[in-house]
Amino acid sequence: MSRIAYVNGQYLPHESAGIHIEDRGFQFSDGVYEVCEVRAGRLIDARLHLDRLDRSLRELRIAPPMARGALLVVLNETVRRNRVREGLVYLQVTRGIARRDHGFPAEGTPASVIVTARALNPTANEAKAAKGVKVISVPDNRWDRVDIKTVGLLPNVLAKQQAREAGAFEAWFIDADGHVTEGASTNAWILTADGALVTRPAETGILRGITRTVLMEVAAAEGLKVEERPFTIAEALRAREAFVTSASSVVLPVIAIDGQPIGNGHPGLVALKLRSRFHDFAEAGV
Ligand code: PMP
Repeated sequence: MSRIAYVNGQYLPHESAGIHIEDRGFQFSDGVYEVCEVRAGRLIDARLHLDRLDRSLRELRIAPPMARGALLVVLNETVRRNRVREGLVYLQVTRGIARRDHGFPAEGTPASVIVTARALNPTANEAKAAKGVKVISVPDNRWDRVDIKTVGLLPNVLAKQQAREAGAFEAWFIDADGHVTEGASTNAWILTADGALVTRPAETGILRGITRTVLMEVAAAEGLKVEERPFTIAEALRAREAFVTSASSVVLPVIAIDGQPIGNGHPGLVALKLRSRFHDFAEAGV
């Protein structure tokens, strides 16, 4: 079945879907995005993702391209046209198409909106979680507005590639104080020896992950204490468990950091429990 992409008002065959060369997303990374999980054909936590999109747009002073209801129709329609049951939907909004000039284009220049959807293999994802993933650490060389979900992801791209070349799934960024900020495309967590879940506060240095937010509720329901505070790689290496969260991976246990095993070197039971309960707390379908 051929894939379909939404581009500025039209549903187009994926292979021929394109955007103008002077789109500001292409020229300046002047845009934002969201990735939502799709489960049983329904968007997961779309409301929270669209709240974050609104915030990202506001922070960059990009006018919302359409009302939330219309955007939800496009997201759901793209999922439907691609017959995605289990997978992801990707949404990107840029400051539109205009002659190349760093300053903002003329008032009224329409934002560009693209939406794509693709299927993921749930069996392969479960197998990945059952096996656990490896992480490397890299210096955090990003700008200080990583709370905005912009398409400017070059440090993340380079870090992820470095991880792959080291046989790892993810790279954890380390800030100037030696604390873990987050992964190249995930939030980072540990479970300490005394049973507290620790993740960095979302005020600085990280993207406030939607999965992270919802997982706080799962943790509370499981009677786990959550400490929002920075942690170091040394503390992570002493932890009982470590894991990463994102809409595309939900919860993935981390079994090694920089080649050193975490806990007994196998996926942590708490991480797997949180993963198995996540969708009891996530909102499906709006
Ligand atoms: N941090 C970064 C840098 C990310 O790219 C992502 C994934 N979009 C996350 C954290 C996790 O966010 P979410 O749970 O909303 O997918």
